[in-house]
Amino acid sequence: MSEARQVIIIGSGPAGYTAGLYTARAMLDPLMFAGYASGGQLMLTSDVENYPGYPEGVGGPEMMVDLRKQAERFGLEVEDKNVERVDLSERPFKVWVEGEEFSANAIILSTGADAIWLGAEGEAEQKGRGISTCATCDGFFFRDQEVVVIGGGDSAMEEANFLTRFCSKVTILHRREYFRASKVMEERARANPKIEIQTFRVVKRWLSDEKGLTGAILEDPRDGTEYEMSCEGAFIAIGHKPNTGFLEGQVEMDDSGYILHHEHTMTSIAGVFAAGDVVDTRYRQAITAAGMGCEAAIDAEKWLEDNVH
Ligand code: NAP
Repeated sequence: MSEARQVIIIGSGPAGYTAGLYTARAMLDPLMFAGYASGGQLMLTSDVENYPGYPEGVGGPEMMVDLRKQAERFGLEVEDKNVERVDLSERPFKVWVEGEEFSANAIILSTGADAIWLGAEGEAEQKGRGISTCATCDGFFFRDQEVVVIGGGDSAMEEANFLTRFCSKVTILHRREYFRASKVMEERARANPKIEIQTFRVVKRWLSDEKGLTGAILEDPRDGTEYEMSCEGAFIAIGHKPNTGFLEGQVEMDDSGYILHHEHTMTSIAGVFAAGDVVDTRYRQAITAAGMGCEAAIDAEKWLEDNVH
């Protein structure tokens, strides 16, 4: 086992890199485990137009490369490896990566959240061949085609509206009558002439041929009536799951697995901080994640100063 570091950061989206930048500039010699697929969800995003400071917008992957470079310039050490497990029961905290043990006096958790899939029959085979969880990434491939969007939240409304830029028709399929989406987002979707909304529709099975997706068998959950509908693409927008499986039993989480903050960005364990989508069920923006990464770094710095001598 190597000597205990001051800070280990787990996860590498905007929250993690910003925490890396701040802890590096605070001379805390941070080590980041960025994951095998470093960069987080923005690596799947084409254009980011709402991150302040980029008047012309910026590509998601490009922005993550810039964030990483900026933090590395000040000394952030990055390993593109996954953390297998942690032991937060005593200090220094322990982190296992590819069988090797690392330790740190403070930990910042910024592992983000991933899109949830429906898990309907035939879905696994069509992932990336007509079924996607990211309209921004894949919408372009469905130019002049008919697609469906599954879900009734803001993500579904936003994805449906976005897809009308490319697709000839977008049908939103929602499993119940009322929408979780904000009124303004729902109204915008309803007012869009290219969008049709169907309620009480659950996907039972995806249909496909050798070229890709051709449609779906839908069910009305009220009486089990089945319908067949055709579509060339499907976008699943039913929410996200935080990447906290490796933290089970270590730190307090809500019922969905999002990490809970106790004091500022500190978790239920003193010395363990969390930032970004792994705690955020509300905003989920690159800018809010980056802001929280900064807060976690400052909280960690102050905590180390007061508690570790
Ligand atoms: P969400 O608000 O949790 O909504 C998920 C939707 O998917 C719900 O309508 C839910 O139906 C449906 N759903 C869940 N599991 C399903 C299943 N197995 N089969 C069929 N439908 C299923 O998630 P979200 O839309 O991703 O939004 C998450 C958060 O990000 C929200 O706070 C949202 O406001 C925010 N957000 C904001 C914006 C924006 O303001 N620009 C854009 C996107 C997201 P039920 O309603 O029946 O549970």
